[in-house]
Formats: sequence, C-alpha cells, structure tokens
Amino acid sequence: MRSVLLMFTFILATGQSTHGLGLPLLLGDNGDGLVKRLHKPTGIVIHHSATRDTSSVSFAAIRDYHIHEKHWEDIGYHILIEDTEEGVEIFTGRGLQFEGAHAVGKNDKIGVCVVGNFDEDFISTEKYQKLLSVIRGLLMMYDNINWEGVEYHNESSEKSCPGKLFPPKSTLLSDLYIYPE
Ligand SMILES: [Zn+2]
Repeated sequence: MRSVLLMFTFILATGQSTHGLGLPLLLGDNGDGLVKRLHKPTGIVIHHSATRDTSSVSFAAIRDYHIHEKHWEDIGYHILIEDTEEGVEIFTGRGLQFEGAHAVGKNDKIGVCVVGNFDEDFISTEKYQKLLSVIRGLLMMYDNINWEGVEYHNESSEKSCPGKLFPPKSTLLSDLYIYPE
C-alpha cells in the first residue's frame, strides 16, 4: 500500500501521467489533487443491494444507477459479491484508496455490498462464505482495522440493511473466529 502511495506522490510531484507507467488513469482532470483524495479506510460496512440476485451480473446495473441516476463519480461500493453464471463472484468497485458513497457518515469505510434482498431471502452458504473471505482479506490488508471496525449498515441507519434475515453480527464474528468478550 505504501509503495502505491509513494508512486502516486511521485507522479504528482513530477507531473507524469499515470498512463506512462502502465497504471490506469484513476481520475479525470478535475483540478483536484489526487493525493488529497487518497485515504486509508477506517473500517468495513456490510450492505445488501435490496434487489433480487439473478445469474446475470448486477454490477454494471448498480454502477450505472450510481453514476447516471445518483450522479456519483463511480459505483458507491468498493466490493460487490454476487451470483453469476460462474457461481458467486467478487467484483471490485470503487478503488479502496477512495472514499465510498454507501453510508452517511461512514464513507471513509470500505463499502461491501452483497447482492440480494436479505429482508426476504436467506443468504446462500456460498455467498456467505465469500463474504467471510472478503472480510478476512480486508482485515489482513489493513492493520488499522480489526473486528470492531466491521459493521452492518443498520448500525448507523434506519435501514434494515443488510437485511432482517441476514445472519446477526455475533454470528458473523464467530464465523470469522472472532469472539468479543
Ligand atoms: Zn446499506
């Protein structure tokens, strides 16, 4: 992570295009400094999409909705987990180095969205296991985030998100082998 940050600092300092380094150009030229917009996430917020998951890919539809209807720069979530024809897959959305757009007052945290409506359906085992592995991976990647930084959207919102039938957080934590006192 640090080396990536250093590289961006270098790019800004030298005014070199990210294209020259074979990196994707992360932002359009909006006159805003890239470094100012980079940040280190402080936690993880779990969501559901509140839409039925079909075998077609929802990622593009959700991204389109966030960009064209909500007029955000990109999809609001950092990570999406959904069913595809190939089984459950993990999609990367907004770059982890950017603030998300997924929970009021919590956008400095990583937004993880499990596609499905868990007010109406139970999460499948396959999808739940994928979510656990995503959380485990993120906890390993960020030494500033521990289990206390893992939250459900409904902890800071009136919404039921990630759904009334979603496993309670105590279950999620014990499935991650985390046993708070
Ligand atoms: Zn949510």
